[in-house]
Amino acid sequence: MLFKPIGETGQKRIGSAHVVIIGCGALGSPIAEMLVRAGIGKLTIADRDYVERSNLQRQQLFTEQDADEGTPKVVAAERRLKDIRRDSDIRIVLDHVDGPLLEELVADAHLIMDATDNFETRLLINDVAWKKGIPWIHGACVGSSGTVFPFIPGETACFRCLLPVLPSVNETCDTAGIIAPSVQLVAARQTAEALKWLTGNEDAMMTKLLHFDIWNNTQVEAGISRLRRPTCETCGEMPTYPSLHKPEGTNYAVLCGRETVQIIPDNGRALTMDDGEDVAKRIGSDYKRTPFFIEFHVEDYRCVLFQNGRLLIHGLRDLNKGRQIYHQLFG
Ligand SMILES: [Zn+2]
Repeated sequence: MLFKPIGETGQKRIGSAHVVIIGCGALGSPIAEMLVRAGIGKLTIADRDYVERSNLQRQQLFTEQDADEGTPKVVAAERRLKDIRRDSDIRIVLDHVDGPLLEELVADAHLIMDATDNFETRLLINDVAWKKGIPWIHGACVGSSGTVFPFIPGETACFRCLLPVLPSVNETCDTAGIIAPSVQLVAARQTAEALKWLTGNEDAMMTKLLHFDIWNNTQVEAGISRLRRPTCETCGEMPTYPSLHKPEGTNYAVLCGRETVQIIPDNGRALTMDDGEDVAKRIGSDYKRTPFFIEFHVEDYRCVLFQNGRLLIHGLRDLNKGRQIYHQLFG
């Protein structure tokens, strides 16, 4: 409140705002913590993953115990955030975020924070943001570099307009690594933009896309307004929001930068953890069951089946092999 641009009025606005954070890993952790400490009214945090030891170097809300227990990130995050501020209003969502889910999550939101690790989800956030007229704050980091930009429907170009000029995505955190300071810097810049938006300080917001490398001490700011395309499928004159239209049927995907195949069964086919337990017993695998998922092994692959029927096969990059294993297990 002592900080003039925020003041008492701004603080009140923060206290009545709802922010949705997509992703609860490296960026989602510090963003959520800063917003909770800032007195945010309501937070929704969505993430599909659980805590692993390799996360601990940079994902500040988690502990070794969370990794040992394979606690879902959103569950561990909520626990820690409530320790920080016991009256925080937090909704957690342990799921893969698709179009219909995202539209539901942001229904009464003032802002969306991008804490994801892939382009596909960013395009989806971008479509939902433009469809609903809600700003979203893009953040990305890999190695020692980071990118930040606040996308505002009706004012800035959109993420889809930028795609032709964005750097290629060959480098991911799993191949190039990532150092914690670049995470912190991206999260700090994103959260600063969030506070400006929420307190009505739109004039102070970034107008250029920021890209920096804290190892080489370089920073570039790029004006992107000229990249706006009238024919853009998201922000153009005839938007179709292509990322919102989910293909029918069972969805198979290799998770970005990870040796993991994700399988989301068709809506009509709800796999349960009991199905997983039956399969594990049938194939003679040891299994571990938590309130959130059941884990078992097929050949050399570690399989994790979540409550809502989503299946991860770790140690695998080959979609066809993933399909084969899925059908072999569940018909
Ligand atoms: Zn566009």
